Amino acid sequence: MVGSISVLGATGSVGRQTLAVAERLRIPVKAISGNSNLALLEEQARRFRPEFVCVSDENGAKALRTALADTGVRVGGGMHALSDCAAAYADCVVTAVSGSAGLTPTLAAIDAGRRIALANKETLVCAGELVMRRAAERGAEILPVDSEHSAVFQCLEAQGGKRTLKRILLTGSGGPFRGKTPEETRNVAPELAVAHPNWSMGAKISVDSATLMNKGLEFIEAMHLFGVTPDEIRVIIHPESVIHSMVAYSDGCVMAQLGVPDMALPIQYALSYPDRVDSAAAPELDLAALGKLTFFEPELKNAPCLALAMDCARRGGTAAAVMSAANEEAVALFLAGRLCFGAISEIVSAAVAETAAAETISLELLRDADAAARRFVRENCRRY
Ligand code: NDP
Ligand code: MG
Repeated sequence: MVGSISVLGATGSVGRQTLAVAERLRIPVKAISGNSNLALLEEQARRFRPEFVCVSDENGAKALRTALADTGVRVGGGMHALSDCAAAYADCVVTAVSGSAGLTPTLAAIDAGRRIALANKETLVCAGELVMRRAAERGAEILPVDSEHSAVFQCLEAQGGKRTLKRILLTGSGGPFRGKTPEETRNVAPELAVAHPNWSMGAKISVDSATLMNKGLEFIEAMHLFGVTPDEIRVIIHPESVIHSMVAYSDGCVMAQLGVPDMALPIQYALSYPDRVDSAAAPELDLAALGKLTFFEPELKNAPCLALAMDCARRGGTAAAVMSAANEEAVALFLAGRLCFGAISEIVSAAVAETAAAETISLELLRDADAAARRFVRENCRRY
């Protein structure tokens, strides 16, 4: 069990659930960060009494500093403060910000040799090679919080490693529009797209689940986390979200990890690892009540974002970074009512095709690729 944590993105869906887990397990919370929700961040600061609170922008930090003046909690603002929040206060950092904003603080935590409980999948999608290499060099542990990757990690742990791994079987519910064609969902409203049947999550990942981009991001995340090739990962649609993922071994054995769909469980495991601790909060899995579990092949022709992500995974270089940044922009435009649902995959594909993807990777190339992809989406969104 970790001795203390800091939580990046404490005001978000994973962040709030992490604080609840920490409270239940009595893990001290040393630092927290938020972006726009200052009221909740203040409430969390008063409840958990961290040493440090970070707000993304300086003006927000100023306001919160005044609001928390009576508490003795230090407040910082900006990217530098976010990296500090990740690296300086606790032995484990839960990275639960959304989007590529997670990359810089994750690198800071790696350099400080912290355990990283990684929820922020975009970090590995855009810079997986670099992040994993640096973590290995610095001896920083990266433990997955994403439920599928936590499942794979647990299967591999049970087997003592990946020596005889044949394939990762990555499960996905298929999202709220499973079985529908792109034509049928082209103009769905944001409220429908964010209503996931099994999981309650932040807006961006909910839209990603509806386009199946989330499964594509997870495909790339799994490649980097577990050091496997695209051919060693197979996506399987499993609408009940009870099997969180599986590992097939070379002798034909398949190991699966099952549980109720509740993010508190993978969050807790990343904090308690290598131990397992009681989870009073989660209901027990009742397979007899469920009756049956079902599985389908994903229909790639109806899931252009998943197909694109698999293609970017094979291309390597900065292709996945371009895709992920373009997707972030496109989803934000969709949520703001400025792009229709069906155009998300189209504009992200165009960004990947039009924005030159370097074959090698450096932090500088990745940042350039990220900026170019976002610019492309903003400049071209009116055409869709
Ligand atoms: P939310 O949108 O609910 O929360 C995002 C958090 O990040 C909030 O605290 C937000 O602050 C903060 N934030 C947003 N933008 C920035 C920025 N530019 N700089 C710094 N902080 C920022 O997201 P989720 O909790 O759903 O997801 C977080 C991450 O975890 C994502 O990468 C997602 O893919 C991954 N994940 C989420 C799962 C889930 O069940 N939700 C499951 C598996 C993975 P504020 O709210 O104050 O504006
Ligand atoms: Mg997931």
